[in-house]
Amino acid sequence: MAEIRIHHLHKRFSDFVAVRDSTLTLEDGKFVVLLGPSGCGKTTTLRMLAGLEFPTSGSITLAGQDVTYLRPRERDIAMVFQLFALYPHLGVRGNLEFPLRNEGLPRAEIDRRVADVAAILRIEHLLGARVGGLSGGDRQRVALGRAIVRQPQAFLMDEPLGTLDAEFRELMCVELRKLHARLATTTVFVTHDQNEAMALADHIVVMDRGEILQSDTPGGIYNAPSCMFVARFIGRPPMNFLPVAGAVRAGDVAVSLAGVRVAVPCTQADAAGAVLGVRPEHVCMGAQGGGLAAEVRHVEYFGSHWIAELATAAGTLKAVVHKSQRPVPGERVAVAFDTARVVLFDAATEQLLP
Ligand code: ATP
Repeated sequence: MAEIRIHHLHKRFSDFVAVRDSTLTLEDGKFVVLLGPSGCGKTTTLRMLAGLEFPTSGSITLAGQDVTYLRPRERDIAMVFQLFALYPHLGVRGNLEFPLRNEGLPRAEIDRRVADVAAILRIEHLLGARVGGLSGGDRQRVALGRAIVRQPQAFLMDEPLGTLDAEFRELMCVELRKLHARLATTTVFVTHDQNEAMALADHIVVMDRGEILQSDTPGGIYNAPSCMFVARFIGRPPMNFLPVAGAVRAGDVAVSLAGVRVAVPCTQADAAGAVLGVRPEHVCMGAQGGGLAAEVRHVEYFGSHWIAELATAAGTLKAVVHKSQRPVPGERVAVAFDTARVVLFDAATEQLLP
């Protein structure tokens, strides 16, 4: 079991708190993505997992062993950095062998492991090549190979796809997913890119200003964001927010948006003020009549669908509109929401209302 447990982990750099009292269990064999804006503490968390940084307080266990103050080489974890510093003088085979030689493994075992890794990553034909002449993608594979050849209990990856162009990033996401499906090694991957997170993760941990805001499956994060920050951070275009008129009471099944009653899933809490959240694909645009009156302000074409910006008395929102329903700027329409997919946030705390 290579479960990683983080317990009340806290990291201060003089007066600045980079990671605040984080408690988290990263399940064995899962692909976990730490996601958040620049400076939220993702890299600091990862560096503490790697042993490159020690926490101010709190603890880390790997497979039941307390590793909090172990040095990097004393923990069975491989770190993959953004910039792959392959050894230029060693060639592909030499780079793959390097970590195994360091461990003092017998020659036959080294050969077997290098052959296995080369087969998994489909780089057998490159084993005799020098690293200088490799394409970006091949370098990336060799670097991955160098990390997996050690067969560590966990991989830590800090924006490893950060320097690649968009098309290649997508390809490498697929490669990483396939590799993980095959090896099932616990992986912690840091990114600020929500698409990468959604494509890769079994589990996403959203951070902001040193704190963990939500830790859940991609579906859980998307459908039931714990707060407005998470709702805004995941999904493009982002979730629409519309202020609710008046207070919300436990048991309410409808709220008022600028005088129009809108059905919502039954709330279980009171709030003096609330904000209704609805994703653009759960906004239905129909003929004028029932629902919230709106005017189409702006449209964008995406081939399979349109994104329409709609002005209503409750605020502006975006809707995903089927390609057949061509929206026209200036058109007057009515909007309705997919009731089951609407969420409510407390206006004061911005937390999801249960
Ligand atoms: P990025 O994506 O930009 O790397 P991040 O979420 O990974 O962001 P961290 O690198 O963990 O963020 O940094 C969190 C905060 O801690 C930042 O404000 C950073 O300036 C600060 N920080 C990180 N390392 C140190 C250090 N050694 N000394 C002082 N402050 C630091």
